[in-house]
Amino acid sequence: MELCWMTVKEAREALDKGELGAGELARAILDRVEEVESRVRAYINVFPGEALETAEKVKGGPLAGIPLAIKDNICIRGLETTCASKILKGFKPPYNATVVDRLREAGYVLLGKTNLDEFAMGSSTENSGFFTTHNPWDLDRVPGGSSGGSAAAVAAGECLAALGSDTGGSIRQPAAFCGVVGLKPTYGRVSRYGLVAFASSLDQIGPITRTVEDAALLLEVISGHDPRDSTSAPYPPHKAQELLFKEVRGMVLGLPKEYFGEGLDPQVRGAVLEAVRVLESLGCRVEEVSLPHSPYAVATYYLVATAEASSNLARYDGVKYGYRAPEHKDLYDMYVKTRSQGFGVEVKRRIMLGTYALSAGYYDAYYLKAQKVRTLIKRDFEEVFRACDAVVTPTSPTPAFRMGERLADPLTMYLSDIYTISVNLAGIPAVSVPCGFTREGLPVGLQIMGRAFDEATILSLGYAYQGVTDWHKKRPPV
Ligand code: GLN
Repeated sequence: MELCWMTVKEAREALDKGELGAGELARAILDRVEEVESRVRAYINVFPGEALETAEKVKGGPLAGIPLAIKDNICIRGLETTCASKILKGFKPPYNATVVDRLREAGYVLLGKTNLDEFAMGSSTENSGFFTTHNPWDLDRVPGGSSGGSAAAVAAGECLAALGSDTGGSIRQPAAFCGVVGLKPTYGRVSRYGLVAFASSLDQIGPITRTVEDAALLLEVISGHDPRDSTSAPYPPHKAQELLFKEVRGMVLGLPKEYFGEGLDPQVRGAVLEAVRVLESLGCRVEEVSLPHSPYAVATYYLVATAEASSNLARYDGVKYGYRAPEHKDLYDMYVKTRSQGFGVEVKRRIMLGTYALSAGYYDAYYLKAQKVRTLIKRDFEEVFRACDAVVTPTSPTPAFRMGERLADPLTMYLSDIYTISVNLAGIPAVSVPCGFTREGLPVGLQIMGRAFDEATILSLGYAYQGVTDWHKKRPPV
């Protein structure tokens, strides 16, 4: 088998048996990066020298010698962390994110930092302040976003797996567009310490992999309580074995009618309903359910997320991080010029929206109202999960769209997230699993949502599904 297509699990076994050396594996992946990266452009930075050096000296650990990529909004000590923003150009964090410390203890090999929409704001990586990543299945299309670089790197064989972050779908939607697996864990499951904050009540780090099994292996390493993140849940890390082997026979799956209506691409609908039939053949029972507040999710998300973003991004003032405008009259002028020159248009749009929603006089009408609707959305899920073990939907209403197609109209772009954002508002876990292709050869993703802290149910369903399907074994033409 070509080394670049190995799963984490396969590589782990080959390394353990001594059939494969960590250096050999790292070199094979770096060769693959060399071969395709000029077309895919998944990485902001690749570290070939460091990767080979770490690979040569790896000792033990569950990820010993496994080459991974990390989204460039996750801090690694001493290495530039840009969030794909000019305002952070040159910023080198003095500390590691907790997930990075845990990956290091587990023995991973860092290949590079991947591209994203600036500050993770977007659904296509076209908002990156540097360049756009291309979808390995069709280079004229977007890989999704905001973790588009991570998803494209996994899909193109430029790493074995990657980390992304998901505030409104940024792990799951690019995973669906690129034909790979993306897991957004329960809010609080994985420490956010060292993840550059976009919307702190929604952000969560998670794995992007080729198989559900690999997602469980990575979750085992990165999850668990962290005293450095006050929102981190007081639970020990999950064991991958417990995450994958729940009996799926007899599970009840809810199909929310709001997720199968207008705006859903017929080919996506077809592939998802076919996947539901496969789950039925594994012994699951399917029921139609309703999440009645779904129509308000996009509006609610874009109030809560922009409000939190406007506050989180106030810290980029030209003093503490990265870029400072070279010419300015006084301190105030320096702030204005630094932020005007350093942030891209989408980030500015969100800072303005969020500042407006939080401002005196509008707070009650927008921010407070959005928080109340958020509670209603959360209750919709609690209600459904009384009768269902999981909720099954498409990950995205359409397959990967063409570059440029939605750039001129932010609202159309925001609607790309219609099926993923409720999960973040409710704080629950969800996984996207490849479930077919359109006639044009574009991947389609099946989304499985679960109860808070019940990653085991959704991963067991995804694992059982991949056990009887081959979608995840298809490779892109690139
Ligand atoms: N696409 C959504 C947004 O633009 C979600 C982004 C994310 O999950 N980071 O906000």
